[in-house]
Amino acid sequence: MNTIAKRVQSPSSIKTFKQCPRKYYYSYILKLETKANIHTVRGNIAHSVLEHFFDIDTSVISMENHEAHLKLIVQKLLLKEWQNYKTELDKLGLTQDKQIHYFEDTLVMLFNWVDLFSSKLSRKTGTFAERFKKLTPMRELLLVSENYSTKGYIDAIEHDEDGSVRIMDYKTSSSQNINEHILQLAIYSLLYFDKHGTMPKQVGIYFLKGRESLVDVDEKLLDMAKKEIAHVHESTLTEDVNHYPKKPSPLCKFSTGQCDFYDVCRPHER
Ligand code: SF4
Repeated sequence: MNTIAKRVQSPSSIKTFKQCPRKYYYSYILKLETKANIHTVRGNIAHSVLEHFFDIDTSVISMENHEAHLKLIVQKLLLKEWQNYKTELDKLGLTQDKQIHYFEDTLVMLFNWVDLFSSKLSRKTGTFAERFKKLTPMRELLLVSENYSTKGYIDAIEHDEDGSVRIMDYKTSSSQNINEHILQLAIYSLLYFDKHGTMPKQVGIYFLKGRESLVDVDEKLLDMAKKEIAHVHESTLTEDVNHYPKKPSPLCKFSTGQCDFYDVCRPHER
């Protein structure tokens, strides 16, 4: 077998390999193009809004009026980001009605997140600006581990007043099962541990259509990440397609779409 250099993996490449090795081959070795869809584009838009949300001028906001004020800001940020993504949105060929539907749906999600954020503000002490600062996370951080040859972008790292750290990811999906994302969260925990030498206390997801969901970080979680990363490295040392079997599943074709590579793969043909 001709082997190649170890690749730098990411939570999404590892998840893809676990879902289907052939999908990994098309995506990360052949690097076949994939078609954008409204769910990924609006996910990127929501992420951008939440990234910029923490840059606002807090000096003009008080605890009394903050909730309405924050919702107005989020609405303006969403309009701006929707405009910034106009080219990508236009390429999707959605009707005007569909675009409006997804815009409003995204706004409802962001308002839901503002409600959660407001409840956290109310549990802090000090002026609005002081409370806001206490809750401002580090955002969009790239963590790269040479030890594990793995990297990942983290949406938010939150530092509590007691010194504890939480790593959070935003999800716009309808499903709110944190177990579907546990490997991604375990890898983030390992990347953080590798960089800082200490574990975050918790990792979790802001399900923008629902609530936040958290898991405690422990050695077991880090070991799971190490094991899965090692397995994907060992399994991807060749470019020979025969080492990347098809793994047909309901994710090949479903009621609202199909795998990006369905037509080239033809999963049920030998
Ligand atoms: S169509 Fe199915 S078997 Fe083929 S690459 Fe996609 S997920 Fe894998």
